Amino acid sequence: MNRSKSEQLFRRAQELIPGGVNSPVRAFRSVGGNPPFIARGEGSHIFDADGNEYIDYVGSWGPLLLGHRHPAILAALEQALTVGTSFGAPTEQEVEMAAAICEAVPSIEMVRLVNSGTEATMAAIRVARGFTGRDLIIKFEGCYHGHVDSLLVKAGSGLATLGIADTQGVPQAFCDTTVALPYNDAEAVETAFRQHSGRIAAVIVEPVVGNMGCVQPLPGYLEALREITARHGALLIFDEVMTGFRVAFGGAQQRYGIRPDLTTLGKVIGGGLPVGAYGGRRDIMSKVAPAGPIYQAGTLSGNPLAVAAGLAMLRYLKAHPEIYTQLEARATVLCAAVPEGITLNRVGSMFTFFFTGGPVTDYESAKRSDTARFGRFFQAMLERGIYLAPSQFEAAFLSAAHTEEDLRRTVEAAREAFSA
Ligand SMILES: *Cc1c(COP(=O)(O)O)cnc(C)c1O
Repeated sequence: MNRSKSEQLFRRAQELIPGGVNSPVRAFRSVGGNPPFIARGEGSHIFDADGNEYIDYVGSWGPLLLGHRHPAILAALEQALTVGTSFGAPTEQEVEMAAAICEAVPSIEMVRLVNSGTEATMAAIRVARGFTGRDLIIKFEGCYHGHVDSLLVKAGSGLATLGIADTQGVPQAFCDTTVALPYNDAEAVETAFRQHSGRIAAVIVEPVVGNMGCVQPLPGYLEALREITARHGALLIFDEVMTGFRVAFGGAQQRYGIRPDLTTLGKVIGGGLPVGAYGGRRDIMSKVAPAGPIYQAGTLSGNPLAVAAGLAMLRYLKAHPEIYTQLEARATVLCAAVPEGITLNRVGSMFTFFFTGGPVTDYESAKRSDTARFGRFFQAMLERGIYLAPSQFEAAFLSAAHTEEDLRRTVEAAREAFSA
């Protein structure tokens, strides 16, 4: 595979952009080699600057549930362009978008739109602190909630890959407001609430983790988080930036039947444009400015172009519930290719092959993976035109645009790559 144009672009990018990329994991540091520069996407396929074609299992890291350039989203964007891209004033479409979110996710009684998942989680923890009058937040090791200062403690995603336990530039005082506990361990949460009695504002969790690779909640775990937080007057925040409209139309909370107090969304709800959201109980969200005293704002929040794409996405998914059953069935086919000695974790259309034999239920067990072997597998797949996330600690995503033929080619490539 010739990637000379990408190589050339990457050299230039590294002069101008830190590491040559606008988000760390894109640089392929953990798998070696240089990243292809992407020129165009169509359905389930992407094409690089040298014209090489790949079947895409990254899907822009989650948003592209319908694949690239879905007609419903393109039509909505074209329509939006005829009226203007941003007003910084309320619009009818924002109200429709809020209604679509609240209808799909019943625990969200009121919602505020923002521009990214990071903004959503940052706002949600501020709201939780403002509402409860407490400072501490419990998070789980390997869960990633965006690059919010106080949440970059034992975070997953790019940080798991780079092996940065803690970033520089965050004051110790911020980290001191975060209690990091192992995922899937309800007893650790009980203990923390006993130790920090009356001081914990909220527990924030990826209800299905995507950012240490895909890790599902053990039976009873989410129920325990719900019960413990309620008992201690703390809020339960489901960070569904990845799982919202992905693992079910109503997100992980629908799939597992749990009602959190606050929910954060992003990725799929933007249809490929930058949209995030946070919302939840009416009594809590009523405290957000200007309705209440907790400040949060955004110049481009709810901008018409992004909202047009997001609303088109949510409307399309509502009109096509069969997409979720189809994704589930196709993901099963794909995941049947797993050989001995590899642990597959899958929830709906998100999954990870861990290069370890044992079960992966938390960050400790995820880290037992042989990342060097993953790197070789990754490169072998890329050479065969299969574009996976360039890190062991990320989830792969299937989209509704992936065809039976895509799956057949992927399974064949995986067989070759595993044996090589
Ligand atoms: C991607 C992600 C975020 C951050 O969203 P950005 O849009 O990258 O800021 C937060 N939480 C989870 C669970 C995510 O997967």
